[in-house]
Amino acid sequence: MLKLSGEALASASSDETIDAGTVTRIAAEVADSCEELGVQLAIMIGGGNIWRGTTGAGEGMDRATSDTMGMLGTVINALALQDAIERAGRPTRVLSAITMAEVCEPYIRRRAIRHLEKGRVVIFAAGMGNPYFTTDTPAALRAAEIEAGVILKGTHSGVDGVYSADPRTYLDATRFDEIGFDEVIARDLRVMDMTAITFCKDNHLPILVFDLMKPGNIRGALTGEPIGTLVR
Ligand code: UDP
Repeated sequence: MLKLSGEALASASSDETIDAGTVTRIAAEVADSCEELGVQLAIMIGGGNIWRGTTGAGEGMDRATSDTMGMLGTVINALALQDAIERAGRPTRVLSAITMAEVCEPYIRRRAIRHLEKGRVVIFAAGMGNPYFTTDTPAALRAAEIEAGVILKGTHSGVDGVYSADPRTYLDATRFDEIGFDEVIARDLRVMDMTAITFCKDNHLPILVFDLMKPGNIRGALTGEPIGTLVR
C-alpha cells in the first residue's frame, strides 16, 4: 500500500495544484515497478494540495462539510494518477469510498483484491468516506483489509525517514533505520497520524517512511532496499 500525499502531486517550483511532470514521473515509476517486480500495488491518495478539512473548519466552516470537500479533492487526484499510470502502460481502477458511479467504482473489498490479482493498480479515493480523518488512517485500514504486506509512506518534504527531531530545524537530528511503534508513540514522532499509527501497531502492519521525490525510490521501497525508516 503506497500512501501518497496530495501535495506530492503538486509542483515544488510552480503553483500548479497538480503538476503534469511530477504526476508523470511518479506514475512511470509505479507502472515500471509493477511491471518489472510483479508486485500488487494499491495507492491511497491524499488531497492536501486541493483542500484540507481543518483549513475550512479553522475559518468557521462546518467540519464535516469541510472534510467532505477534502475527500472530493482526493477523487480529483485519483483521476489524475489513474490517467498518468495508464498512459505509462499499466491498467488501473479507482475505487472510491464515496459512491460516484459515473466516475469510478465504489469501494468493495473483494473487488479491490480481485483487481490487484489481475495486475491492476488500485487507487483508493475519498479516504474512508467519513469526516474527521485524514487519508493516513484509511491507508492503514485498507492495507489491513487487502492484507498488504507493508505501508509505503512517501514523503515529499525532503525528509527521507523518521528522525529524532525535525532535521530541517535540528541539524544534529539522526535518522532511524528502524524504530518500534511504541517509541514513535512515546516520542510523538510525526510519521503518520496517531490514529493510523496505533491502528498499524494493533494490526502488525509495518510502515516504511521514504523520500518519494528521489527518482528510483518507489522501486527501492518495493524491493526492500535500505532507504528511509522502517516502523514496526
Ligand atoms: N478526509 C476525510 N476523511 C477521510 C480522508 C480524508 O475527511 O477518510 C478529508 C480531510 O479533510 C483531509 C482531506 O480529506 O484533510 C485531504 O486528505 P489528507 O489531508 O489526508 O491529504 P494529504 O495530506 O495526504 O495530501
